[in-house]
Amino acid sequence: MQVQAHLMMVMVLDKCLGCHTCSVTCKQAWTNRDGVDYVWFNNVETKPGSGYPKRWEDQAHWRGGWKLDRRGRLKLRAGGRGQKLITIFGNFDLPAIDDYYEPWTYDYAKLIDAPLADGPPVATARSRITGRPMDLRWGPNWEDNLAGVKPADDPAAAGLERELLGRYEEVFLFYLPRICNHCLNPSCVASCPSGAMYKRASDGLVLVDQDKCRAWRFCVSGCPYKKVYFNPVTTKAEKCIFCYAGVTEDGLPTICSDTCVGRIRYLGVVLYDLEAVTAMAETAEEADLVEAQRQSLLDPHNPMVVKQAEKNNIPYDWIEAARRSPVYALAKDLRVALPLHPEYRTLPMVWYVPPLSPLLSGIGEAGYDPEDPVEVFGAVDDMRIPMQYVANILAAGDTAQVDDALRRLTAMRTYMRRLQLTGRREVALAQAVDMRAEQLEQMYRLLAVASREDRYVIPKARFEAGAALQSQFRGAGGRGGAGRSPRRGHRRERRP
Ligand code: SF4
Ligand code: SF4
Repeated sequence: MQVQAHLMMVMVLDKCLGCHTCSVTCKQAWTNRDGVDYVWFNNVETKPGSGYPKRWEDQAHWRGGWKLDRRGRLKLRAGGRGQKLITIFGNFDLPAIDDYYEPWTYDYAKLIDAPLADGPPVATARSRITGRPMDLRWGPNWEDNLAGVKPADDPAAAGLERELLGRYEEVFLFYLPRICNHCLNPSCVASCPSGAMYKRASDGLVLVDQDKCRAWRFCVSGCPYKKVYFNPVTTKAEKCIFCYAGVTEDGLPTICSDTCVGRIRYLGVVLYDLEAVTAMAETAEEADLVEAQRQSLLDPHNPMVVKQAEKNNIPYDWIEAARRSPVYALAKDLRVALPLHPEYRTLPMVWYVPPLSPLLSGIGEAGYDPEDPVEVFGAVDDMRIPMQYVANILAAGDTAQVDDALRRLTAMRTYMRRLQLTGRREVALAQAVDMRAEQLEQMYRLLAVASREDRYVIPKARFEAGAALQSQFRGAGGRGGAGRSPRRGHRRERRP
């Protein structure tokens, strides 16, 4: 066993307002430069919807991520080193600018300089690429609140068109904020022929060495989440860096987390076994990938794990932070968080607590008794968002995983309602979802009333661990990748 520490984020989808503050503040900080006008390291999509870039979840088309070969071994969906060499001057799996959107600005000067006229002056849209006037037909958030969405546009809705169309009259939607998942088994890293993409050993962040990037853009096509972007001005790849300067040097939250109006984001450290990563990604059944990844998160309270972590030079305050980690609690202890599209086999490290609707107040309207500890779960079966749709996004189609998480959330809400109204601890509710009453109260504290200190438990990098902070490796499950074998040099990483 080789214990490594990894920064991880969990987002609670029920709390997202779709306000886009996270996207805007991230853009102000990282991508308000020429060449990256079209880039949103953080974007918030309305679901159902095709997303940004369009239909990014359609891997039959984009060929991102991993699949298993006939022997059950990992293979890049777009092919390994040989395939990369053949297509190195013609990567056909890249999204075009129209798949993202053509960035634009407005003729603001006209609003000030226009001569006196009968009508008000109009600031027409102009392309940031050609400078010509534009007819706006698509943008990064075009589908906000279901604007113009058709189920056929959404790959996760495949096979559910009839159900979704029927339910459209009831109008359900939720928001899906997305950043790079800083995957444990990143296909972007394995796709890079230049060795420019790397995963940092000290905290697991996936970064781009700008000096080594040769603009092949296989990282862009290799990432199934389409979270690496190409800057045509610098001719380099760029991506979310998890605000590493502030996070690892000062223990500050990422900008998207810090400015999140809904307080949906949780940051912390988890421990995992590096040697188990490839086997985990090679889990035969897609539906078992969630549980495999969950089990890979090591218990930081286990003395054996702690002993091995110390042996592997994990600083003590990082182990201590892993013990207080809100993301470990949500993903492993409480089992309410799920990874985004685990079937891509990249083992993402940004997880989501699925949306629960209707709320408790709707249970009575649905014909269930909100006071009955058993009937209350009927709300989960009757929820407006089709369970299969959420499972297609967060559990490789396995509805049992989503059902389990939603029942736990429902149990927590009913338990706390009872506790606050009657002062009684309804232990049966906890037992019905295979939990303890204290766990439901812990879940409530985390999801409902957690302070900033409880939501972001980030240890600072230690001065004496400087060399480890700069060491890097090229991803764990690199078998079948285009890049070179894992290395452990001591290189200085650079910001995009
Ligand atoms: S494969 Fe994972 S780590 Fe790489 S860019 Fe995509 S989301 Fe990020
Ligand atoms: S700032 Fe928070 S609440 Fe607003 S869209 Fe982003 S994730 Fe959602």
